[in-house]
Amino acid sequence: MKKVVIIGAGFAGLHIFYKIRHLIGDKIDLTVIDSRSHALLKPALPEVAFNGEPVSHTLVELKPTIESKDGNFIQDEVININAKANTLTLKENGNIEYDYLFITLGAVKDYDSVKGFREYGYSVCDDYQAQRLWKRIQTFKGGHIVTGAAKSTWGTRVKAPNLAAPCEGPIGEIMFMSDYYLKHEKSMKSPDDFKIDVFTPGKVFFEDVGDNPRNTIGKFMQERNIDLHVNKVLKEIGKDYIIFEDETQLPCDLAIIIPPYTAPKALKDSGIGDEKGFIPTDTKMRHLDFPNIFAAGDIAALAQPKLGHIAIIEASIAAATFLKEEMGENVEIPPHNLEVFCIMNMGGHEATLIFSNVLYGGNIDIAFHSPLARLMKWGFDSYLYFSRGNIPPEFALKALEKIIENLA
Ligand SMILES: Cc1cc2nc3c(=O)[nH]c(=O)nc-3n(C[C@H](O)[C@H](O)[C@H](O)COP(=O)(O)OP(=O)(O)OC[C@H]3O[C@@H](n4cnc5c(N)ncnc54)[C@H](O)[C@@H]3O)c2cc1C
Repeated sequence: MKKVVIIGAGFAGLHIFYKIRHLIGDKIDLTVIDSRSHALLKPALPEVAFNGEPVSHTLVELKPTIESKDGNFIQDEVININAKANTLTLKENGNIEYDYLFITLGAVKDYDSVKGFREYGYSVCDDYQAQRLWKRIQTFKGGHIVTGAAKSTWGTRVKAPNLAAPCEGPIGEIMFMSDYYLKHEKSMKSPDDFKIDVFTPGKVFFEDVGDNPRNTIGKFMQERNIDLHVNKVLKEIGKDYIIFEDETQLPCDLAIIIPPYTAPKALKDSGIGDEKGFIPTDTKMRHLDFPNIFAAGDIAALAQPKLGHIAIIEASIAAATFLKEEMGENVEIPPHNLEVFCIMNMGGHEATLIFSNVLYGGNIDIAFHSPLARLMKWGFDSYLYFSRGNIPPEFALKALEKIIENLA
């Protein structure tokens, strides 16, 4: 029986698990490895940070989830992969052999590379940071909030959009949800109470979509007196300021940032990534150098921007390639047609759904602002949680896309 190992049980790893699990026990011995006991549903984290939602709503316990479907789960950290020997090394459990390996380790949020972050910075990117931010925003007495993404850099082995910021949707949620919270929950209604500034390392904010979503977001920012600063590469966060690489500064009492994305150390050490440690694959998500290794999601060099929606598209492709080309199953391999699809919560009943493929040469470029978008986000997050990280069926997602195209 073939030994298949999935490392990383986030969006991509769990999706691959659900797609190939029908082979378990018959054709494959399937093991899922993650350093965490619970998968983290990151799209729900802004609700923790700005609404005080319990963090438990963002967590899916992995052991029962995997074992209830006859997979093996090991909670341990992968520290090395020897792709030539088909083995990987775990911190506690030593070496594990595999016939096929799926790498779905996500990207590391490199807080420590931002000077001053540990003393003065806040973020929303993981369960610890989101809860910390919720405590801070409740005691915020007014002043300057600055939010934005730090610059990330990428390798060159595959052809993918070279984005300065891998995921700016959460920045949209941070600025609109903090504005809503301070006005509605803290009654800070006067323009003198607080001011929000947003920066981006890109030439434009939301560089992964086209003019429609950008103009819609720009209009909402203007209405809320939120100013945008482009081409600003974060250098340092201080007690009451933030500095950029061009030596300009903004006054800042509360800095909320997305740190640079980097590859996990295990991959950098293993030498199977590109110059930056991200995994180079073809468009069927097969490693360019090791045909029995697949990758999907944030760790895949082809995944730009780094989005859950794209992690799912690539996980479906990786699983189908494995099923068809290695296991002889009668399935279709979906094309590597990426699209940006995300729903940005704006506080209260407001949300904007963004659906765009202009980054990849397409002509869809929708921004749909409606309480219906808020309802969809709530429905999607709840489905993910109650189905233990499984996404809604493909027919439902396709139907949703068609509805959006007609409504927008
Ligand atoms: C605040 C926030 C909001 C977001 N909102 C949205 C949204 O609304 N829509 C959307 O589409 N996307 C959103 N995203 C992006 C989305 O969350 C990511 O793109 C998605 O989680 C990537 O999935 P993944 O499976 O590639 O990686 P992850 O979900 O990060 O999973 C990687 C897994 O690998 C494990 N791991 C890492 N290193 C090791 C190791 N060495 N050993 C063992 N295990 C390891 C981790 O513990 C983790 O469980 C958001 C991101 C953030 C930060």
